[in-house]
Parts: sequence; C-alpha cells; structure tokens
Amino acid sequence: MSISDNIASVQDEIASACSRVGRNTDTVKLVAVSKTHPPEMILEAIDAGLTDFGENRVEESQKKVPQVNEQVANAPTWHFIGHIQSRKAADVTALFDVVHSVDRIKIARYLSDKGQEQDRHLSALIEINISGEDAKYGFNGYNWQIDQRVRDALWQNIRTMLDLPHLDIRGLMTMAPFYDKMETTRPIFAGLAELRDELQSSLGIALPELSMGMTNDYPVAIEEGATMIRVGRAIFGERQ
Ligand SMILES: *Cc1c(COP(=O)(O)O)cnc(C)c1O
Repeated sequence: MSISDNIASVQDEIASACSRVGRNTDTVKLVAVSKTHPPEMILEAIDAGLTDFGENRVEESQKKVPQVNEQVANAPTWHFIGHIQSRKAADVTALFDVVHSVDRIKIARYLSDKGQEQDRHLSALIEINISGEDAKYGFNGYNWQIDQRVRDALWQNIRTMLDLPHLDIRGLMTMAPFYDKMETTRPIFAGLAELRDELQSSLGIALPELSMGMTNDYPVAIEEGATMIRVGRAIFGERQ
C-alpha cells in the first residue's frame, strides 16, 4: 500500500465515522503524524492532498520542517504534539503553527514569552489527562465531573493560560491509553468533549478544537466530537 492509498482509506474511515453521527467530513482535520519519517514521505503525503503534519521532537523538526517547506509552493501547517522542554520553547514557537501539548503553566508562559520576542502568535491546545494514567502528561482532568479539587485546579490553570498574550488557546487535547478494543476509549473522548462544553459555558469562551484520536482509536474520537485527529501509522506505516 502506498502513502496515497493509506490516506484514501483513512479518509474513507473518517467519512464513515462522520456519517454515523451526522457530521460533515470537513469538520475533521487530519493531522498526519510524520515523526521519525523522512521529508520524502511527507512530500508524498502533500502530493496526495494533506496540509497538516505533526511532529514530536524539536531536534528532528529543526531539519525536517525547513527541508519540506523549501520544496513546496505552500508550506503545510506544522503541529507540535510532543512534550516540550523549557529550553526548547523558542524553537517550538519558531517552527510550529499549532501546539497540541501545552501540559503545564510554566511551558505555556515560556511559549507566550518566546512568541512575544519573535512577534508570533501560537495556536495552542491544552493537554488534559482524562484517563488518570500515570504515564500520561497533561493537566489532571481525571474525574473532573465529580472531584471538586481537580475541577478547581483545572479552571484556575485555564484562566491563567487564557490571559497569556501570545498564546491563542483554541481547545483541548488528550491521548487515550492503548486498549485492544477501541470502544473502550469512548468515555475518555466523551469526557474531554464534555469538559470543553463546560469550560465554554462557565467561562464564556470559545474552545472550538478537540484534538483526540490516533491510528488505534480515531473513529471513536470522531464520533465523540474530535475536530483534529493525529494519525501516524495508518498513513506512513509502522515506525522503526
Ligand atoms: C505518535 C503520536 C500520534 C500518532 O500515533 P499513531 O499510533 O502512529 O497514529 C498521535 N499523537 C501523539 C501525541 C503521538 O505522540
């Protein structure tokens, strides 16, 4: 299967998931996760019509992003989806358009400060750990519906981030744990969507984006309201 065949079958899956819940397919953005793969594969995906790519390592992106950009008429939109080290914040704001992985206040402040220095505004999604899994990054959102302390801390942190001048908070992101049956992820995605709705109404703000769903679980994420799915293996194959 070629990259363009893979993209076509992911797009078919997106269309079926959308039709199951009465959504329009153009409400779901496919972010192709190109981490570990060379520029040539990204260029193939661009030829097949993709416009959005996700990377998770700054060092790798410093070479790849300019290599790809200089070979195409219109540079794609670059999404950073990995954990950000403080000392790399300036590189993230310089190279990327959207950050999905704002997982602590300190890094949100750094990104806004570096954006200010570089005269850039970064679109940002707040990463929430809904599942409570220890291994996951993100603000704690486990049981936010019933745990008042979790809820208070989350609300306070989000208010703080909304005030940062060079960070444009566009929504929420989560990662589900790996399960054998993708159906098991549904409450996690539904919980993130519910949290988004609650934040919008209680804070009177717009949080249009929900970044959720990967190769293993994106159809369920779409059914639960994902506006961005981050798909790597289903497009580029297994990583080394
Ligand atoms: C690697 C990665 C993905 C893509 O995972 P696949 O299983 O290859 O689709 C999505 N989101 C994040 C945060 C990742 O690190």
